[in-house]
Amino acid sequence: MSRHWLLRKEVFRFLILNLLIVIAYAIGVNLSHKFSTLPGAVASVWFPSGMTLALVYLLGNRVLLGIAGGSILAVSLELLQIDAPISIFYFLLINVACALGNCLQPLIANYLIKNFAKHKNIFSHVDTVLLYVVAAIFSPVVSATVGMTSLCLAGLVPWHNYGISWLTWWIASAIAHLIFTPTILLYEKSQKGERRLNLWEVGLVLLSILLVSWVGFGYSYRVEYLLLPLLIWTVSRCGKFFASLLVSIVSLIAIFASVQGYGFYNKASPNESLLLLQSFMAVFALTSLILSAVIDERTEAQLLLMQSIESLESQVIERTTKLQQSETSLKQANLELEKLVNLDSLTQIANRRCFDDRIRFEWERLSREQQPLSLLLFDIDYFKRYNDCYGHQVGDNCLKAIAQALEQTLYRPADLVARYGGEEFVAILPNTDLDGAIIVAEEIRSAIVNLKIPHQNSDISDMVTVSVGITTLIPSPKQKSSTLIQEADIALYRAKQQGRNRSVIFNE
Ligand code: GH3
Ligand code: MG
Ligand code: MG
Repeated sequence: MSRHWLLRKEVFRFLILNLLIVIAYAIGVNLSHKFSTLPGAVASVWFPSGMTLALVYLLGNRVLLGIAGGSILAVSLELLQIDAPISIFYFLLINVACALGNCLQPLIANYLIKNFAKHKNIFSHVDTVLLYVVAAIFSPVVSATVGMTSLCLAGLVPWHNYGISWLTWWIASAIAHLIFTPTILLYEKSQKGERRLNLWEVGLVLLSILLVSWVGFGYSYRVEYLLLPLLIWTVSRCGKFFASLLVSIVSLIAIFASVQGYGFYNKASPNESLLLLQSFMAVFALTSLILSAVIDERTEAQLLLMQSIESLESQVIERTTKLQQSETSLKQANLELEKLVNLDSLTQIANRRCFDDRIRFEWERLSREQQPLSLLLFDIDYFKRYNDCYGHQVGDNCLKAIAQALEQTLYRPADLVARYGGEEFVAILPNTDLDGAIIVAEEIRSAIVNLKIPHQNSDISDMVTVSVGITTLIPSPKQKSSTLIQEADIALYRAKQQGRNRSVIFNE
């Protein structure tokens, strides 16, 4: 699409919008006069004011042409209907003054609201509602002053009536701002889906309002206070827009009834009637606006509270998970540590510390069960010479190979092989009698021989061999576990003495 075409489309839209505003404005003026309560067609509510503020607030300055046009159309039509014709000068003066006043009024209110409001949703906070009320009440002062002065200058209104006419103009516009503008502005918001409505509830409230209004305005019973609980119900259950709509509906009913000569606002003096009607509508509108804001603020506070509770909860969950994770890794680290503490760093089999714990444990257990406990003590033959011949590095490797062979030969879960110290190893065989122990010792000895590790400096073989001391006891609480070790040691000593590369059983 070309820019030229887009521009034409924009201009077209602008013109259509403003034309519609002119028409709406003229209808508004007409309705205001239709619903005027006083003789001489003084309106209790000036509908166009309610519309212009909403338009400027929502659409900005581009609606001013329509407002000025609407004002000129309405004023011109009225001036033409007057019996005594006025001069062109005053005709123009009144038109310009009214158009200016009618444009300035929403501009001033809008400026005040947009510049000083701390929140974007002006009807959701008490402070911005109060600001709105101030702007809504103050801004008609300008239009009333400019308009009334021009009317008096032209002689259409006598100067001695300036005060009362000015007051009526001002109040009628201010009330339109308080009643109808919020309904329009909130309708725009309610379209964005504030809450779900229960149609039954809305219907019931509407019916109740009509009933109360019928009784109150139709029969002059003073039941308008019944509207208050209905208003509170609507505000809290249906939200701001419906509350504002309710205010608009009740106000329209009140105006309509008063115009028809019904209702308790119909007093002897028309001025008194008007003021009573206007004050009723103003109080009703203010109550609705402030109550709505209070409820919205409470809802927002609740929401914030819920959110912070939720975030607190998720923080707690997050921290608990982290704590659990670190607990698991701590447990794992502890397990690793325990393993390391009980492991011999060179041979990677159980160390002396592990052996000491296990022998004590098994001693006590088998002493209760009165079952045999066997111990095998191994010592590599001529290992000093092995080191001297092949070096310590090779000696270490030899120790590792023998440790592995020892461990692989034992297969019962309760059996334990450990490095006792230097080139000595030990095997604990719980629930194993002497015969079993001899078999295991011989199996281990031949497993080591089968490793065929060369040892050229050994006096008894050209391979690495071991000597084994064997002992078996049924533990008793009277003895200590060290007895078992002493016996195995004695048996080992004898094995060495008897020529090495053999198993010897301890016996006294
Ligand atoms: P025997 O047949 O009488 O047992 O003679 P032996 O030489 O084996 O006994 P001795 O107790 O005299 O020597 C033990 C040697 O074991 C001394 C040391 O060189 C060696 N040894 C002890 N611990 C280690 C070790 O961790 N690594 C190495 N490579 N050698 C070790
Ligand atoms: Mg030794
Ligand atoms: Mg030795």
